[in-house]
Amino acid sequence: MSVRPGSKRLIREINESLVLDALRVHGSLPRVEIARLTGLSLPTITGITTRLADASLITEVSQGPSTGGRPPRILALNPAGGHVLGVWLSTGRLVAVTVNLVGEVVDHYASTWRGRSPAAAERAVAAAAKELGSRTTSPVLGMGVTLSGVVDHDAGVVRHSGLFGWEDVPLGATLSERVGVPVTVDKLVNALASSLVLYGEGRGVRDMLVVSAGHSIGLGIVLGAQVRHGLGGPTGSLGHTSVSVLGGDDSRPCHCGARGCLETVASEWALRAEIERVCGLGIDEAAERAADNEQVQRVFAVAGRALGGAVANIAKVINPERIVLGGEETRLGPAILEPFAKQLHHALSGATDHDIDVQVVSTDEQTWAYGAACQSLTKLFQVSGAREPDGEGA
Ligand SMILES: [Zn+2]
Repeated sequence: MSVRPGSKRLIREINESLVLDALRVHGSLPRVEIARLTGLSLPTITGITTRLADASLITEVSQGPSTGGRPPRILALNPAGGHVLGVWLSTGRLVAVTVNLVGEVVDHYASTWRGRSPAAAERAVAAAAKELGSRTTSPVLGMGVTLSGVVDHDAGVVRHSGLFGWEDVPLGATLSERVGVPVTVDKLVNALASSLVLYGEGRGVRDMLVVSAGHSIGLGIVLGAQVRHGLGGPTGSLGHTSVSVLGGDDSRPCHCGARGCLETVASEWALRAEIERVCGLGIDEAAERAADNEQVQRVFAVAGRALGGAVANIAKVINPERIVLGGEETRLGPAILEPFAKQLHHALSGATDHDIDVQVVSTDEQTWAYGAACQSLTKLFQVSGAREPDGEGA
């Protein structure tokens, strides 16, 4: 084992997770309030909080006002009581972060690596874990890894990754063995969704769609404040749902073998090819010139509308409170975001019983790594789906 796992476990018993999650959501609480929020008895809470304090996962932060007797002790998560690692793995490059128990990034690491084989990737991730693990005095409780591909989250297996050329790679088990802590593996958009649920735009939101638009188009589905992974397989192959924007024989071939997939119109690789073909420009250059170039506007508008329409179809089924769009394409700005939002709102008007809030978040390499760390933290909190009090949601 190259990382000291410490005496503390990532996965706690259910009632311990309930208490930890109440403190994650509310910050600091007296025991009597934890009992009220979790529905557990005060003696049970006293036993649990004693165990969690012995494990350094929670700490006493202050004393509340006295109502005559002894003032109540206020408890909170102990930020340094445990750390988790998050790794964004791409071909030739890797970014990793260390995150504390209150969701703060306390360290980060980036490296390049050669080759595309699972063995080379595992070596690179293990080296990152060893380096970050050696730089913290807190016990490392777990690690999350995120990458582009179809991932069986429960099994920790990368079923398919076009980017890496992998089929059925048991990355989670191999890395757990190698690094010595529990390792979760998930696709990029679910890592993003995990961070939004714990600490971002998903706080206090029960049902949410998270869409990432970049090299591929990913969909994360959050129901009951939990990222859903589907029954027996991966959910959210939004990029390979078919769109009829071009229709008929104009539909383009997709790398998945089908024709007319959303990715053939709205992914970054499709946009690059189309912008190059129509305008002879690079994609970022095109985005900068979009305001006064109608050709560029048309290409981006087709992509944005296709994405908006596809997301609207899913939203009509799921009926979420919020839709969050992230991914590299958000950097392209209003040229793609405005047609996306317009099409989405148009398709949803009158289709649901409430207004669906739409937000755009910017994402970079560290965002994905942070999301991977949050996948791991989710195991600690086993987020119960409890609603947050008014005013605390982002
Ligand atoms: Zn496809």
